[in-house]
Amino acid sequence: MGTLMTVSVRAHDRTASESAAEAAIASVERYDRLLTTWSASGPMAAVNSSRPGRAVRPESELMVLLGEAESWAERTGRAFDPGVGALVDAWNLRGTGRIPAPRELTAALHRVGPAAIDIDPQAGTVTRHVDGAWLDTGGFGKGAALRTAAGTLRARCVRRALLDLGGQVLAITAPGEAPWTVAVAHPARRDTQVATLHLANASAATSGNGERGVVVHGVRVGHILDPRTGRPAPWWGSVTVVSADPLEADVLSTALYVMGPDEGLARARDLPDVGVLFLVAHGDALEACRNEAMGRWLVEASPDEPVPLRACSSSTPSSPLERRYR
Ligand code: ADP
Ligand code: MG
Repeated sequence: MGTLMTVSVRAHDRTASESAAEAAIASVERYDRLLTTWSASGPMAAVNSSRPGRAVRPESELMVLLGEAESWAERTGRAFDPGVGALVDAWNLRGTGRIPAPRELTAALHRVGPAAIDIDPQAGTVTRHVDGAWLDTGGFGKGAALRTAAGTLRARCVRRALLDLGGQVLAITAPGEAPWTVAVAHPARRDTQVATLHLANASAATSGNGERGVVVHGVRVGHILDPRTGRPAPWWGSVTVVSADPLEADVLSTALYVMGPDEGLARARDLPDVGVLFLVAHGDALEACRNEAMGRWLVEASPDEPVPLRACSSSTPSSPLERRYR
């Protein structure tokens, strides 16, 4: 996944802790092999290099994840869409970055989404309809990997565990254990803490377009794309999402970043058990906005740089994120 992971585990003794930590790492490595789109071989390479028009049948564990990603694409109005691969290429996000000509951008947009690459969970197939269309697992892979690692750790009855996979955090606590304390950083100055979360059996994912990304002719090209316009989402700050399900936190942080604070907050307001915190930069000032559910995890403004953390309303009326229960 091109990133680092830190694992802290407490089980009943040192041997049990070490072996649980190793097992969690092995789970994440297995998902890395399952989901990688950086290798010329493997199950995702088979999907992404399949002959246009020919349906492929990924192994069931992968197919379930792809079906879940497609379902999130539908529920987020395609602000999150795993079928963004052609846009990753158009902007050369895996290289040094480039700015595509308007005609190229239009062509790339035709290679994005279900008309270009179709995930069919009922049939258990993925079909590429056009050359150049491919599925990028980058928007949900870390969440999926953390979810499987959580299952591994819980099966080993660990008392406490904290996993940090490239900035997405998963906190596990047994009954009676105190929650973990996790910092939320300033979106522009990562060494400044602006908020603190208390997490117990929950995962926190943060998306922003500032930290990674490349600069082309003085223009910052962020790594989060808006599949609806074909352009990188503009930089405005960051959004942190807390959920019991790490995959949901991962997907929604990307989707809500794409939507931006106004549309995003309108859609996140009614999520009863998903916490959302928008940190919006206005020049040097930072405005913090959260939904009601986030009050459960957000403990205090950090002494580093106190930002008033208010539950705020949004001016844009919007349909809430559709909830579906599995
Ligand atoms: P981070 O890795 O910084 O947490 P995200 O979790 O938000 O970033 O995912 C960004 C990655 O997801 C990109 O590097 C790209 O591979 C992919 N991606 C970019 N835009 C989208 C999008 N709108 N929907 C789904 N995946 C995306
Ligand atoms: Mg993410």
